[in-house]
Amino acid sequence: MPWTTIIKSRREWETVPNLHDYESIRVHFTWEQARQDLEGLPRNQGLNIAHEAVDRHANGARAAHLAIRWLGKNGTVEDYSYNRLNELTNRFANVLQRLGVGRGDRVFVLAGRIPELYIAALGTFKNRSMFCPLFSAFGPEPIRARLSIGQAKVLVTTTSLYQRKVAAIRAAIPSLEQILLIGEDRQPTAIAGTQDLTALMQQASPSFAIGPTDPEDMALLHFTSGTTGTPKGAMHVHQAVVAHHMTGKYALDFHKDDVFWCTADPGWVTGTSYGIIAPLTNGITSIVDEGDFDAERWYRILQEERVTVWYTAPTAIRMMMKGGAELVRKYDLRHLRLLASVGEPLNPEAVVWGQEAFGQPFHDNWWQTETGGIMIANYAAMDIRPGSMGRPLPGIEAAIVHRTEAGTIDVITKPGEQGELALRPGWPSMFRGYWNEPERYQKCFAGGWYLTGDLAKKDEDGYFWFVGRADDVIKTSGHLIGPFEVESVLIEHKAVAEAGVIGKPDPVAMEVIKAFVSLKDGYEPSDELRRELLGFARARLGAAVAPKEIAFLPTLPKTRSGKIMRRLLKARELGLPEGDTSTLEGAS
Ligand code: AMP
Repeated sequence: MPWTTIIKSRREWETVPNLHDYESIRVHFTWEQARQDLEGLPRNQGLNIAHEAVDRHANGARAAHLAIRWLGKNGTVEDYSYNRLNELTNRFANVLQRLGVGRGDRVFVLAGRIPELYIAALGTFKNRSMFCPLFSAFGPEPIRARLSIGQAKVLVTTTSLYQRKVAAIRAAIPSLEQILLIGEDRQPTAIAGTQDLTALMQQASPSFAIGPTDPEDMALLHFTSGTTGTPKGAMHVHQAVVAHHMTGKYALDFHKDDVFWCTADPGWVTGTSYGIIAPLTNGITSIVDEGDFDAERWYRILQEERVTVWYTAPTAIRMMMKGGAELVRKYDLRHLRLLASVGEPLNPEAVVWGQEAFGQPFHDNWWQTETGGIMIANYAAMDIRPGSMGRPLPGIEAAIVHRTEAGTIDVITKPGEQGELALRPGWPSMFRGYWNEPERYQKCFAGGWYLTGDLAKKDEDGYFWFVGRADDVIKTSGHLIGPFEVESVLIEHKAVAEAGVIGKPDPVAMEVIKAFVSLKDGYEPSDELRRELLGFARARLGAAVAPKEIAFLPTLPKTRSGKIMRRLLKARELGLPEGDTSTLEGAS
């Protein structure tokens, strides 16, 4: 394996890790038992995420405990106790009910990390509608595609995002009945065809009784991307909360006095599962920072808020590394007990840098939108092998497998051999389908395994090591982007005949989106046209999805059936061997 150093876990604990004895807890673990950590709805009326996250604390000893501290980008601070959060999420659920939004209806939220986003998510769970987050850096086209695929009934957004990104596409979403706007600084807003959320919330009652919720009722729709086709809506059920809660306890080692900060945006799955649900079900305090990455601001937050458990991402860690360990050491970070990271490969140097800068390593963990929660992790009490994602959680069976040509699955038992990472279905937060796409869902399973699309290895001690993706999806700054979505927009430009998009390796963002285009007759490559295409893509796709680089090619390499060979574009870009090109158009 690539790294031979082992960072020994501390042996003397001030706070004994919940998963202090991995082997024994894993052997005795059952999901039924994990469910017992939760309360369930009163009178045996089922299991609802919001009841576990909010109501049960608001009705108990933790009512006054700080649930969320919101740090506005301009210095404002807002505190939400469990009690206050309960009242506000009740109001939001009442707003939905008054508007005729019911069980299973999709409530989308397009917003930065503002309190209303968190309130809307939890209020939507209370109303038993489906919460569907949209990343605020998406442009109009990714927003339109997701609202349309998910047949949105409600969209909650800010006046400014509505005007910049939604107004022009609204007519293309016939299912969209209600747009609830949050005015600038919560000032009244009156745009035709929309409603003022702040006013609706004020009129609504602060009491709400969650209706019976089947643990298998749909709760969340999270969009993710594949190599081909449109974005896919991964569906998650209320029962997922059992895994959110348990992984918070075991992988992130939540203890009751923790102050936890997850830096992810709820537009992506980490920001929902761990930025909203898991800390609240565990009754702890969660920090929400509206601001964008800024190393010194982050260290200040860690210091001032006395953060004890911090969950961040490799791109951010690599950006912090650029500022140096000296800068970190200027801050008093003695409260920090656990550093964790997810979303993309965490290079061994970054793990070790944690030790140098913070006095403790970053603990990498692995999961994906479809798994709903952490599956493989380096635990607080575990010796770390830098570069490894760690070992499977209790209740999770992971393996390295090989798909045979006949479509059967062979489990690879030899340590160190590369294959596809597979998980045995059955954990509570496993996705229950892709919205309206049963075939795409079925394709993820074979031989009794869920196939993750990631290539990995397992060593002789059961540690998993990430190798790469088995498909063409791109991970840029921790965000998963489907090349097809980018290509589809580029070919809408009048000069573009065809487009192929790849992830180009980048030392900080891991990959940046690079597009190759061939032009229609009558158009010539030029810097001016390149700039125009970059601007065109950015205006439609938004900063998070648009390509950062565009190169012109006379034609793109294609298979005989006409599919653009992104693999070949990538190999050529990197100067790597081109591999099997027998299916290349024009090959003899
Ligand atoms: P998403 O569904 O957007 O959360 O992306 C999930 C994908 O991100 C996984 O399938 C992996 O390819 C990648 N990923 C997540 N965590 C890690 C990790 N710790 N190491 C390497 N890749 C990761």
